[in-house]
Amino acid sequence: MDHLPRPSSRNYCGDAALRVPRAILLLNVHDDYPPTTFEDYPVVRGFAAETLAKGSFQPEQAQTAASTFQNWLFFGLMEATFRNRVHPNDFIEYDPEGGRTYLHTRALQGHLVEWEGRVSRSTPTERAEWAEQTSVIFKSASNLLEDFTSNIHRFYPKDFAVQVELLASLLEVLEYSRHAFFPDAPPRNKDNINGDCSLNFKNEFLRKGWCAYTIKHVLLSNPAPSILDYARLFKSHPTFITKVHKDCQPDYCAVSNVDTATYTPKHVSPECECEYLRPKMVEIESAINAGCIPVIALTNTNEMVTVSAQWQNNDATPYVAISHVWAEGLGSCSEKGLPACQVQKLNKAAREAQQKVYGVGDNTIAFWIDALCIPESPDLRRQAIGLMEKTYANASVVLVLDESIGQLLPGDPLHEKMFTIYVSSWVQRLWTLQEMMVARELVFQISNAMLDYQELFTEDIVNLSGRDPLTTELFGWLATLLMNSSSLNRPRIVDLDMIIWHLSRRTSSRESDEILAIAGLFGLDASDYVPLDAEERMFKFLKEHAETRVPTDLIFLPGDKLSRPGHRWAPRKFIASEKSGTPKSKFHDERAAVMDVGLFGRWQCLVLKEKLVTNSLPSPVPFVASNTEEEIVIELDRTSTMERPEYMDLIVLREDDGESDRVPGLAGLVREEEEIGEDGETVLVVDLGSPLVLSRRKKLGNSMALSAHLATFKQRFLLLR
Ligand SMILES: [Zn+2]
Ligand SMILES: [Zn+2]
Repeated sequence: MDHLPRPSSRNYCGDAALRVPRAILLLNVHDDYPPTTFEDYPVVRGFAAETLAKGSFQPEQAQTAASTFQNWLFFGLMEATFRNRVHPNDFIEYDPEGGRTYLHTRALQGHLVEWEGRVSRSTPTERAEWAEQTSVIFKSASNLLEDFTSNIHRFYPKDFAVQVELLASLLEVLEYSRHAFFPDAPPRNKDNINGDCSLNFKNEFLRKGWCAYTIKHVLLSNPAPSILDYARLFKSHPTFITKVHKDCQPDYCAVSNVDTATYTPKHVSPECECEYLRPKMVEIESAINAGCIPVIALTNTNEMVTVSAQWQNNDATPYVAISHVWAEGLGSCSEKGLPACQVQKLNKAAREAQQKVYGVGDNTIAFWIDALCIPESPDLRRQAIGLMEKTYANASVVLVLDESIGQLLPGDPLHEKMFTIYVSSWVQRLWTLQEMMVARELVFQISNAMLDYQELFTEDIVNLSGRDPLTTELFGWLATLLMNSSSLNRPRIVDLDMIIWHLSRRTSSRESDEILAIAGLFGLDASDYVPLDAEERMFKFLKEHAETRVPTDLIFLPGDKLSRPGHRWAPRKFIASEKSGTPKSKFHDERAAVMDVGLFGRWQCLVLKEKLVTNSLPSPVPFVASNTEEEIVIELDRTSTMERPEYMDLIVLREDDGESDRVPGLAGLVREEEEIGEDGETVLVVDLGSPLVLSRRKKLGNSMALSAHLATFKQRFLLLR
């Protein structure tokens, strides 16, 4: 919307696409009423808040209800938040040509500044009360938006949902401002407000030429209104979409995934027929066998490539490590080499990147690229993979070559630069995660220039972080990825959750490489994992990455599980997964122990009184908990591909704080019970089955209560296998 920064003129969609029909003011029902509380705003206009929230008005009132909804969450929300009269004239604009009135947010910034001023002049008591009050208002507004999107939109006029997106965007800005203006107030309740209220974002962006994979795994994996709104400011087929993605699927980008069997590197221009350059294999081999990183230098006199060995010490030869995606034509191996034109281009780019960071003087700089420095021969390849994390961590500069990012111009707005990186193919690839995370200095090749990542973090940007949603989302995302960067100067902490979240957006032509590409981040030797198959890699990684401990709620990560006995609690993969990251439950910080025979830990369970035959169960299944007298319904996940045990007699629950209405769980069948302590404490050995959801119901119907099964809530030690 209008409060967001504009993309460069070559990418900006222009006003028209933005305005119609997203910001049409249905009817001004604000002006004619005196200021009132947030709850009473719809009431004085003829609708109980609950009527709008449940869509329980008469069908012929739908249009009036929509107008009231819109005025309430726009003018009403601001008025209650600012505690000041909001005049529609600051936020509306009449278009005489179309005869319509539009909402805009150009004056929002001014109102926020004024709000901040009045907050800072208020007394501490007033301020505490104001913070508390806005928190209540925002919670009710965000619940209303959530209900609208998930459920009640069908009661409103069909084209209204698209107008609700502006309301979500406004609420998000107000929430961030509240957090900045009342630093002592408790944080936001919700991680995200969904900006895709019309549920049409996917189709809208497919039409604009975006890749289905990027839409699902990047844009909609974090559907913050600011991110989606900013994306909407770009015209169809913006400059950074350089390829045709019409054959891509939500879980598969047909452009980025290459067939390694038929792949050949590209020349700089299609007409070029220059010869290939290859490093001397004997030099590559001796470097790798000595545990060193082989790097390439191109001599001035001829085009022969020489190889020097990079020892891992401080006065070693500096080199630039190249981070790239294979789909752009720079993939190969030492034995095959790359076209001479590409090697010369890489050499030049490496020199420019080094000069960008360290200034002039170094006219020759060695460089490392997988296409020349990783041999195909299995044993050398295995050792080179083991050196991968060190290769990028020890590089003086990590240089990013990506066609989309390469379209940027030096003078483009900072948010556009950041957004282009955020949606680029480069950040959607598996291997580039580690390459960027361990980089000391990260440089992007852009159009006729180099962009140092430090240029992105200007003082203005740093000041806006935490206050402005778009800046916080985009720049915060990059900051979490630069754990080793020299300027941020932070201790290197790698957290499995964060890695899972980042991997859920990424994919690879060889999914089984997943663990090879992240083991180094956790200080593990990736070469140990090379001889194993994908399942063995995952299990070994989970066992070794944090001394046999994993969060207890890792078992609830959606998606397929490993298939071998004892490992069936473990996720099959993290990349391109359904949900971002480990679901965070109340027990998130608790740990379970990975053992070869299963996962040992303590979980909240619903222990069933009798064994049920899983396949013939209806869904939902009614239960009564004998110890809490609660009535519960279990819905089985019929879509799960997990082989379920034929029976179940226990449900492992993600959390049970007695408050959540819907709790994810996993069906289980108890095979044995063993004593583990002197005080008679026992462990249940459980075969895990398919996922399900437990819902609490206040009251079951009589007929359901009659058929309900009996069960008991209990904390139990379990060995899941
Ligand atoms: Zn694609
Ligand atoms: Zn060539």
